[in-house]
Amino acid sequence: MRKYDKSIELYKKAVNLIPGGVNSPVRAFKSVGQTPIFVKRSAGSKVYDEDDNEYIDYICSWGPLILGHNYPSVIEEVRKAIELGSSYGLPTKKEVELAKLICECIPSIEKVRLTTSGTEAAMAAVRLARAYTKKNKIVKFEGCYHGHSDSLLVKAGSGLLTFDILDSNGITEATTKDTIVLPYNDIFALEECFKKYENQISCVIIEPIAANMGLILPNIDFLNRLREITQQNNSLLIFDEVISGFRVGISGASGYYNIKPDLTILGKIIGGGYPIGAFGGKNEIMKLISPEGSVYHAGTLSGNPVSVSAGLATIKTLKENDSIYKTLEKNTKYIVDALTKIIKENNLKNVQINYIGSLFTIYFTSEKIENLNNTKSCDTKKFGEFFKFCLDNGIVIPPSQFEALFLSYAHTEIDIEKTIDIFGKFLLM
Ligand SMILES: *Cc1c(COP(=O)(O)O)cnc(C)c1O
Repeated sequence: MRKYDKSIELYKKAVNLIPGGVNSPVRAFKSVGQTPIFVKRSAGSKVYDEDDNEYIDYICSWGPLILGHNYPSVIEEVRKAIELGSSYGLPTKKEVELAKLICECIPSIEKVRLTTSGTEAAMAAVRLARAYTKKNKIVKFEGCYHGHSDSLLVKAGSGLLTFDILDSNGITEATTKDTIVLPYNDIFALEECFKKYENQISCVIIEPIAANMGLILPNIDFLNRLREITQQNNSLLIFDEVISGFRVGISGASGYYNIKPDLTILGKIIGGGYPIGAFGGKNEIMKLISPEGSVYHAGTLSGNPVSVSAGLATIKTLKENDSIYKTLEKNTKYIVDALTKIIKENNLKNVQINYIGSLFTIYFTSEKIENLNNTKSCDTKKFGEFFKFCLDNGIVIPPSQFEALFLSYAHTEIDIEKTIDIFGKFLLM
């Protein structure tokens, strides 16, 4: 039996010092009825906790670590960067290189501004859209998460969904009255909304691949209609690709589905495990950002040299080896196919799997999951048991039914076979 004594001890201390004992809510393991494991170190596909338990990691820092923990070329660049200084508050050559690389990979981005987190990037992108269109309302979708800025925290996914608090406290009605929330994948609701709020909608912000209510794939007709209707109404389309960017391919979801948004939000992978975010798009829009224009955005650590170096090394590695995405896709499909076979052969009715690229979610329900409403049917108690079973068998998955599992390039064949074995055993229990 695995022991978690040191983690439990740390957690007891932590709850007296940090709200919930953690610095981001889902980490508390609350929704799976556990207390958190405290991580001591990581390498490749594994994390190790304070009790020296080893786990195959399917959290991968919630997405940034597509190459796995401490990928050699990433550490090397980070090491070089830290020797040269921590932060200057002045521009660097590497920022220009990263901007160039992002613009080359994602054709709809002509200019890009770096931030310290995805939250800030989403907040700034919405501000920019309002300034550019001179309209106030924004449209978002139920269960999509765009960070924790006030106007975007309405019916958001991620931790809010996990804890069943769809709207955060502490946000005024005045802030949220201009945020319209629609169901994901619903063309009819989208069209009705544009009729009702004609000439008032500055932008529609969406995760083109929704990965914060578990993984939910977009209906292609819905995405295309979204592009069309925003164009017809002079509203901006903002793709929040903080997870999907550089995850489903080098040009993200916009490349995958061949749809060009007006603005794109990035984060996670572009920092290679270090704090970062970015927003970019057409020059005509981006030139409104200060000091070129009058929309303010700033950051003491924006474009931090260590983050930028890790991001550059990560993106370069992905760009130079197209076998990486192929391997990730092949391995993910292999896991999903093996589990699907078990589900079919044993006529299991209450399991659904959504997947794309190197992301997947196992939902404990008989309902097909295409929007937030469908997720209500999930057996979260069963998920909690699944989580615990995985943990006790050396696999750590996101501690919530409503998150995606992340595969990395470091996951080995042995990891994958063990994963199928453990997941399969649980499904048949
Ligand atoms: C993680 C995430 C964010 C927020 O990024 P932070 O760096 O955590 O602020 C925004 N949008 C999406 C889609 C995300 O997954």
